[in-house]
Amino acid sequence: MKRIKRKLRVDRLILLLLCLLLMVSSLILIFKLLFSKKEPTVVENAQTIEKVQEIGQNASLIEMSDKFAYYISYPKFNKTNIDNKIKSIVDSKIEELKSYNSNNKYSTTSDYQGPILYINYNSYHSFKNISSVLINYEFSIPFTANNEKGVIALNFNLEKDELLSFESIFNPQAKTAFVSNIKDKLSQFQLFDVDLKDKIHDFVFSDNKLILFFNPYEISAGSNGIIKAEIDIEKIDDYFTNTQEKNNPIKIEKPKETINKNSFPIDSSKPMIALSFDDGPTNSSTVRILDILEKHQVNASFYVLGINVEGNEEVIKRSFKMGNEIGNHSYDHKSLPSLSNEDLYYEVQETNRLIKEVIGENPKSFRPPYGAYNGIVKAIDMPVVLWDVDTEDWRSRDSEEIIKQVKANAKQGSIILMHDIYQSTADAVEEIIIWLKNEGYQIVTVETLMKHKNIEYTSDKLYFSANNVE
Ligand code: ZN
Repeated sequence: MKRIKRKLRVDRLILLLLCLLLMVSSLILIFKLLFSKKEPTVVENAQTIEKVQEIGQNASLIEMSDKFAYYISYPKFNKTNIDNKIKSIVDSKIEELKSYNSNNKYSTTSDYQGPILYINYNSYHSFKNISSVLINYEFSIPFTANNEKGVIALNFNLEKDELLSFESIFNPQAKTAFVSNIKDKLSQFQLFDVDLKDKIHDFVFSDNKLILFFNPYEISAGSNGIIKAEIDIEKIDDYFTNTQEKNNPIKIEKPKETINKNSFPIDSSKPMIALSFDDGPTNSSTVRILDILEKHQVNASFYVLGINVEGNEEVIKRSFKMGNEIGNHSYDHKSLPSLSNEDLYYEVQETNRLIKEVIGENPKSFRPPYGAYNGIVKAIDMPVVLWDVDTEDWRSRDSEEIIKQVKANAKQGSIILMHDIYQSTADAVEEIIIWLKNEGYQIVTVETLMKHKNIEYTSDKLYFSANNVE
């Protein structure tokens, strides 16, 4: 009797285990089906190329004369061949810039209207023996509708200081294979009648992918911009000349968790105003202001000083998560037009780096200390945000006075300037929000204000308000 009971129990146990196994495996199957949609080949218009700088030291060249201006950053590796090659590309673009205009003279003050060249770069270390650099260039030429943009890609063996051609990385069958892999998807762009094989020369390796780039006018109409085609490394394994590369990409650790941003919903058709706060953060008044914004479900822009990032990481993270815009307000609040180009560049880049370490992405916009700018500041690689309503909160330190300034001057599309380092400002914020809401305004970040007013938020413009963009 006992034995039978026990046997029954064992049978039940096995049955239970089998059921469990069935459930788990069907769950796995469902998950696989749900998440296997990722396609091995993606072809798209490369409107924005995510900035990745895994290797190299950042070097910069900034120049402004009455004929041209450039704002360039490029990588250095302390390897003669590689560095010379990169520098020669940069130099040839500068020559091209100079050739655009030798007759006209432009003022070098804030209203500089001449040709500008921007260069920045991405760098990737994807295999032990292959690193890649992607140089992005853009010419902003007066009186032409479209900026001329493009990319130049380089691949090299860093250790050996050796540049690598397509043919040295891939075997002779590779081009045909890659073309047949991407051709169907490329056809969405109405291709010119060209042999695509001849157009494969700009490619990088990143994140287990081979990424091919086609510059404007190269394979289709210029209006398609830069076209990017990504192929999974697994799909091209057989085409490497060096077997070492097969299935052997370096695992690059993703540096930061991605932070999910919330932002409060906005109705584009209704009036809006941007609140902006400079010089912070602090762990007292900034935190009070965030509490108030959260309570009233509104967002604002915060222009952060690089020097204040350390120790206030949690404040910045919380602010970013709430959907606030985190902007760059220089490293330590120097008046930028008085600085050398190198020092100016440091003020901007170092602050970008510090903020990116906290929120995982570069700040979206820049506000120069004291609102002081010249042509070089304007040429910084970010939208430059100023204001049209100055509360002068730093002068009065009086919340009643700050509220009075807002009530007297705020209008549709305004950008209001305050400073989140004063308790008197924090004291004023709640009443300002309530008053603006009662007047029918939605309270938003500068970025949101521009987006909903269909104003492009771009690096070659100054934003005083939604009504005044230069
Ligand atoms: Zn300031």
